[in-house]
Formats: sequence, C-alpha cells, structure tokens
Amino acid sequence: VIEQGQPEHSVVTTCAYCGVGCSFKAEMKGNEVIRMVPYKGGDANHGHSCVKGRFAFGYATHKDRVRSPMIRDSIDQPWQEVSWEQAISFAAKRLKDVQAKYGRESIGGITSSRCTNEETYLVQKLVRAAFGNNNTDTCARVCHSPTGYGLKTTLGESAGTQTFDSVMKADCIVVIGANPTDAHPVFASQLRRRLRQGAELIVIDPRKIDLLKTPHMGKGMHLPLRPGTNVTIINALAHVVVTEGLEDKNFVATRCDEKAYQAWRKFISEPRHSPEVLEEITGVAAEDVRNAARAYANAGNGAIYYGLGVTEHSQGSTMVMGIANLAMATGNIGREGVGVNPLRGQNNVQGSCDMGSFPHELPGYQHVSDVVARSRFESAWGVVLDDEPGLRIPNMFDAAIAGSFKALYVQGEDIAQSDPNTQHVESALRALDCLIVQDIFLNETAKFAHVLLPGSTFLEKNGTFTNAERRINRVRKVMPAIAGKEDWEVTVDLANALGYPMNYQHPSEIMDEIAQLTPSFNGVSYAKLEEQGSIQWPCNAEHPNGTPTMHEVDFPIGKGQFAITEYVATSEKTNRRFPLLLTTGRILSQYNVGAQTRRTANQQWHDEDVLEVHPHDAELRGIHDGDWLGISSRAGQTVLRARVSERMLPGVVYTTFHHPGSGANVITTDNSDWATNCPEYKVTAVQVEKVSQP
Ligand code: SF4
Repeated sequence: VIEQGQPEHSVVTTCAYCGVGCSFKAEMKGNEVIRMVPYKGGDANHGHSCVKGRFAFGYATHKDRVRSPMIRDSIDQPWQEVSWEQAISFAAKRLKDVQAKYGRESIGGITSSRCTNEETYLVQKLVRAAFGNNNTDTCARVCHSPTGYGLKTTLGESAGTQTFDSVMKADCIVVIGANPTDAHPVFASQLRRRLRQGAELIVIDPRKIDLLKTPHMGKGMHLPLRPGTNVTIINALAHVVVTEGLEDKNFVATRCDEKAYQAWRKFISEPRHSPEVLEEITGVAAEDVRNAARAYANAGNGAIYYGLGVTEHSQGSTMVMGIANLAMATGNIGREGVGVNPLRGQNNVQGSCDMGSFPHELPGYQHVSDVVARSRFESAWGVVLDDEPGLRIPNMFDAAIAGSFKALYVQGEDIAQSDPNTQHVESALRALDCLIVQDIFLNETAKFAHVLLPGSTFLEKNGTFTNAERRINRVRKVMPAIAGKEDWEVTVDLANALGYPMNYQHPSEIMDEIAQLTPSFNGVSYAKLEEQGSIQWPCNAEHPNGTPTMHEVDFPIGKGQFAITEYVATSEKTNRRFPLLLTTGRILSQYNVGAQTRRTANQQWHDEDVLEVHPHDAELRGIHDGDWLGISSRAGQTVLRARVSERMLPGVVYTTFHHPGSGANVITTDNSDWATNCPEYKVTAVQVEKVSQP
C-alpha cells in the first residue's frame, strides 16, 4: 500500500520517533510521500532504519488529523470551527482575562519533545517573555529529567557523553533499565554487531531483554534486580570497584574533585553497600554483582547505556549520579568506547531540554537566577525576566486543583494520557478556565480544552531535532502544513496577539537567535548544518565543528563531582492487598501512547497491550494465556489480557502503554523522583485477578 512507484523528487529529513534520530529520504510524488528510504549519509543511522521510521508515516495524512482551529466556551459545549485569526484572538483574550483576574503566575505552557528545537524555544520564550513568568515545562519531565539533574551535578553537562558509533570501541557494554531492541532499534543493531565481535554484555533489568539472546555473541550477564532497587545495585558495583582496588587512580586524581571523591569513597566503602549485604534487597546473587563489577572495571573500555528504567523512579536522579560515579571511578569517561549514555525515548527530548523548557533553566541550561545569563536574554527579548523557577508539570496540576493556576498552553503533548495518575490529571484539567491544546489529533487532553489549534507533523515543517548523542539534525518540510500553519508560526501568532512582538520569516532565524544566546550553540547555523550534515553540540569557538566525545580534557565544571548516593526505598510497597510489582515498557512496532503508530499499518503487529505474568504467579491465580485480568493499584484499576511469560521475575508483572484502553497510567501512582518530580512509572504495587471479559 505504501510503495507506490517511482518518486518525482526526494527530500532528506529526520525521523520523528525515537532519540536515535535516523535520517531518511522522503521520496515524493507531488505532495505525497510514497516511501521513506533510510539515508546512507545519515550520521546517526548510516542507512539503517526500523519499522517505525520506515513504514509508520501515514498518520500525517490520516483522516483523524485536526484540520481547522476550534473553540468553545466550556468543555461541555460542542466544538465550533473558526478561522486561525478567531482562534488565536479567542485564546489570547482568555489568557489575558485569566491573568487580569488571578495574576501573572496563574498561567503557563508545556513544550513538546516531539516538536523541533525552534518550536520548543519559542514556547518557552512565549511563557517567559509574553506570559511574564517561568511556568514552562516539558514532557521530558516525565522521562529524562533525572538525567538532566544527575549528569549536570556530576559531569557538569546535562547530556550523554558519546556518539552512537562509539559503541563499536566498547569492550564491556552495560545496559541498565533499557530495551534498545524495541525502543532504539537502529542503535540496538549496532550494539549487537559489537557484541558479535566479542564485547561483553551486562544487562541490569528486571526483565530478560532480547539483547541477551543476541546470536553468536560472547559473554552476557543478566542482573535481574527487583523494581525499585537500582541504587543498591549501582552502589554495590561501586563498592566492589573501590574495595577490590579496581579504580582508575590516575583518572580520579587528575580529573575529579579530591574532596568529593574522598567523601564518596568513604561512603561507598562501608560494608552496608557490599553485594552480600544488599542481596536480600536486590534479589541478585552477590557473586554475579561482583563479577559484573570486575568485568566493567577491568575492560579496556566500559560503556554504560541506560533508559527510563533508570530515571522513572523515586530515586531516578540518585541512580543517574550513581552511574556517573561508577564511570568516573573506573576512568570510563572522555574517550571513544566508554561513557555515560542516556537513551532518549522521544526524537527531541535532548533538544527540548537544551532549549530552556524547564522552569528553572533558560536555553543552554543557564539557571534563571544567573544574573549574567538572564540579562543577555533580557536585552535580546526586550523584557525583564523572573529570577525564580516556575512551576513544574505536577506543580501545575496541584495548583490547578487548589485554584491558583487557571490557564495552560500545551503544544504536542497528551498529558491526560501520558502523565501518571490519570484521575488527578483530569481533575486538574477540568479546573482550568482556559486550556489551549495544539496537536495533530483530537487527543485525550483536548477533551478538556477550550481552544484546539491544529498541529503540524515533522513532514510539514522546517526545523531541527537533537538526538540522544547531542546531534542536531535538520528536519525539512516535504509537504504543505495540512491546516495551513507550522507549529512555530502558531506560537508566533499567539505571542503577537498577546502584545509581545515575535517576527521570524523562517526557523533558521530562530536558530540564529538560539545560537546568539546559548554558549553551547554559538557555532550552530542552518548553513553549517547544510555543510556538515549534522552537528553535535557543544559547537562554538572552542569546538567549531561540534563535539563527538564530551569531557575529553576536562568537565564543564572543572573537576568531576562524585555524589553521595544513599539508597532510600520507594514508598510504593507490596502488601497483602497489592502483592505484585508492575513495571512498564515499549514494543518495537508501536510508539509511546500510540497516537501516531496506531494510525498506521504498524497497528497490525501489536493491537493490544497485555500483562506479562510469570508462570509461578499465573499458576497461583489460575491464570492462562489470553485470560482477562483485573489489575488494581492504590491509584486505580484497569483490565488487560494475560500473557504468561518467563521474561519476568516471579512477583513482577509487565505491560506496555500504547493503547488508550489499557489505561496503564490509571494505575500508576503519583510518586516521583525526589529531585525532579519525574514520575515513578516503573514501580507500582498491584493485585492481579482473573475477571470475565470487559
Ligand atoms: Fe526512527 Fe528510532 Fe527507528 Fe531510527 S530507530 S527509524 S529514529 S524510530
């Protein structure tokens, strides 16, 4: 159905699914994409692709696309189609009325990791300059915000340290809380190639992921820890490194802060961090932990890759710092083949964080309290900026329920479906006087909206995405925007209607402004992207062509900072009522909440979410494959079909969340990371019982 003859022309652009950032040639007949061909010149994918980027692009022209702006006075009224001008002026008036009644801080905006850097930059600029507050946040809040905090605290930069190609020089590869085969397939293929060449694999995950079954690979180890015990494992690994004398003493002496190191060394040497003592908590045999620590520390090059199984915990930030501690202690930073590498879920998670979406940071991770940075933005934007951090997404929800937060602009993010504890989110959205949703589909969040502004897909816009290796790739428009405007143009119109002038003719001008105000982007321009193909930031006078490997000579904070990583057990505990632990993940053919992939042929490969249950737990409950199961937690309940599987540990159940009906987030709690409020999606105590068909 998709492959339809010879193209008339083609345009090179970037996949809008995961953080690998594969380049594709969109082959076109008129304004219709007939094929997406993996682009050999793509620096992240070298001509490879997966089933999502290659085939799942048809959602862009799906009949469900929102094609016209819509407004309504209240959420119990039907939508009324209006012109762009009417919708924008309706939205602007509502925002102004809310601020006049409830104050400057009563409104905010949420940027999207699916949108371009330029669009994200404009939304946070709109909030800061036109709304006049710092109530801006991003959907990265619910995935990799602990990466931002943890890596900045220890290594001085909120980003992964390597290129994907670096894995080809790794001798020992540690994968923690990630399933690259399903979630980052093109990188997974590269990783497998390296495993077949003999690199050792250590997987730290409650689930037996497919990487462990790589044909013809060398040695593989699986540390199947209990959900919620990450920090104990990373501490135990570091304990073995320190107490068995496996540190890289030269690296530590020359590159790391002596005082912080000595404090950490004393802490981690304590016998309470030994694998033997922690075995009871983690459920992992002490000897396996010791062997893993030795393998990583003694490998010539040890590389760590991690995913949301690290970050989406009440101690997500602690765990990220623990990973950085381990890499620094063993000297696995600052050259090819090593490093600390967060695998970003969405195409532009890195970019949305880089662009100043967080309420406490201006673009380039410059804190809002930094007088010098703030004054640079103030003179460029012609406003006085707030020096206090604004509200994070969960704070916005709480403030909405309390009555002090009354209006929200959400670009490209379905918070009603993707944020935890759906009931709480819906109560917050219902309490708003004005919700403006900008999206390609009438999503779950839009049910609570007063203004619906049509969004544009990656095929309908110009811009850039930044992938998990800090690589800025060009997104090129291949067809006209279905509703007549690209997302960045809508934000510009809204700013102007609010009385704050924005004037850009093309996203390249937005990038020029970003480059002027953001030290790590000083050398980035569309001209350079055309010339080089892609650029890995930092790109500035010091690194004119970008930076493939970070921290080669020193850290942005001078010396590496070891952090104390005390384990604090999550408050989410099993008991007689909720005796099992639920954890969640993704599947290859679908993407996140499935808004796009469910509207493509990929739907045929995975048309429902199921609950994986270990045979032991299934037998105790009389559960067989295909049975309907009622799953209840302290937050709510849902129904899923059973799949009996040995991939899970006994006592742990697993599901994906690609279908709205499955309601995984109806049962996840609102526990969150202590530092960043990233939700604890990965640990929910549940009860599972057979039920009749729903
Ligand atoms: Fe797209 Fe990720 Fe697949 Fe590459 S690996 S084609 S970026 S979904």
